[in-house]
Amino acid sequence: MKYLSTRGEVTGLTFEEALCSGFVQDGGMLLPEEVPVISEDKLKSWSGLSYRDLAKKITPKFVAEDEIPREDLFGLIDAAVMKINHPETAPVARLPSGLNILELFHGITWAFKDLPLSFVGLFLSYFLAKRKKHLTLLTATSGDTGSAAIESVRGQEWIDIICMFPLGRCSRIQELQMTTVIDDNVHVYRGEGTSDDFDMLMKACFKDVEFARKHNLGTINSFNWARIMMQIVHYFHAYLQVCHVCGEEVEIVIPTGGCGNLVAGCIARKMGLPIKIVCAVNKNDIVARIIDKGDFSPERAQMSLAPAMDIQMILNMERVWYLFSDGDYQLVNQLMTQFEKTGKTQVPESLKQKIQLAVSTFVVSDDMIKKTMRKCWDENNYLVCPHTATAVAYHYHKLEQPSLQDKLPQICIATASPAKFQEAVIAAGLELPPNDAVLKIESLPTKCEDFQKGCDWNTVLRQKVEEISNRFLARNVS
Ligand SMILES: *Cc1c(COP(=O)(O)O)cnc(C)c1O
Repeated sequence: MKYLSTRGEVTGLTFEEALCSGFVQDGGMLLPEEVPVISEDKLKSWSGLSYRDLAKKITPKFVAEDEIPREDLFGLIDAAVMKINHPETAPVARLPSGLNILELFHGITWAFKDLPLSFVGLFLSYFLAKRKKHLTLLTATSGDTGSAAIESVRGQEWIDIICMFPLGRCSRIQELQMTTVIDDNVHVYRGEGTSDDFDMLMKACFKDVEFARKHNLGTINSFNWARIMMQIVHYFHAYLQVCHVCGEEVEIVIPTGGCGNLVAGCIARKMGLPIKIVCAVNKNDIVARIIDKGDFSPERAQMSLAPAMDIQMILNMERVWYLFSDGDYQLVNQLMTQFEKTGKTQVPESLKQKIQLAVSTFVVSDDMIKKTMRKCWDENNYLVCPHTATAVAYHYHKLEQPSLQDKLPQICIATASPAKFQEAVIAAGLELPPNDAVLKIESLPTKCEDFQKGCDWNTVLRQKVEEISNRFLARNVS
């Protein structure tokens, strides 16, 4: 399997190249050159598999055997799954009123990014150790990516990570999960802004191709293909957990922010998985505007009760366009050029309609997030995080709408544990049970640098990258 860019100028990359590259030279994002198709019979034969075994069926389709021998690949899968604190990896909570919740938050930082990012960390180390090469990862986060990325690479010899998060916009636990990691290879920055601002800062670093190459910069945000690849497994697992007969359509409801998860779902569908995807979004409703109206015009992200979804700059959208236009990179180029010039673009009607056959949206206000958390607790004694609540809000909405009664089996993705979002739990008038892990993290020492106001952050970032490279060189000379 080889990889290409959504803008058409870069093709034929290996999995390793796709894994390690930050931004692609032509400004696009990477996708597999072809999407492998899974027959209904094959899908049926997978129905009893554990999450781990399912991952061992799906990932080999995207990684050439001469790049990672199967034995090694399966070893990496075992190692990543071992980091999840649940014997089933991704269990399903089956609650009354037909509410099925796929719990993807049993990882170290209690978020669904843990598992895919563990894989990315392990894949990276695998190749870097082989090549004796050092990589500096840049990551911008609205809260969850940062901590999961840090956990996936902390203490590793061949990798340093620089993680930037917006001051005052993450939950307290999210912030602590980043700042209490004091390993030498972890460099955390915070500054006043939004995660979109830091994404742009990163993008500027990568745009300087010479600089990015000299310092071997990589990224672990949802630009990273390997992360998306691992999320494809979630969809197959979710599907097989709730379908009554293999082959029928299932509705999968995903709390959506930057759309990395949506891309994985679109690929799963292209592989033949009969799913409909509902993107539940918070008041940052850009994804709903793009899917429903074709209007891609990001504004400044607002703070909401579901901070990991406070994103407007949906860089993954061009992957969705590429997939649904059957690889029309000229169209993607045209849309993105327009967007980069004017800050907005309009999706052509025909492409919009194709996407709408597979994907719909649901916008959820903060007020509705709180109401849903309470309702779910009252009915089921089950506490959901504010992100998961957006998906559950759709579930409740659908129950009340006769026009939406399609009787499809449905599953909502739980993207984080409520323990991570105490502020939202309290805002909803609920209480968290005492949690030892929370108490422990509150008492750990912290390490973090501030992006000072008025300073040129770009310079600060580049200096840090240089310092890391120099330190690595010095270590390896001595
Ligand atoms: C990252 C994240 C999301 C959004 O996922 P995308 O792939 O960016 O759409 C939703 N919920 C939580 C808790 C997250 O951490």
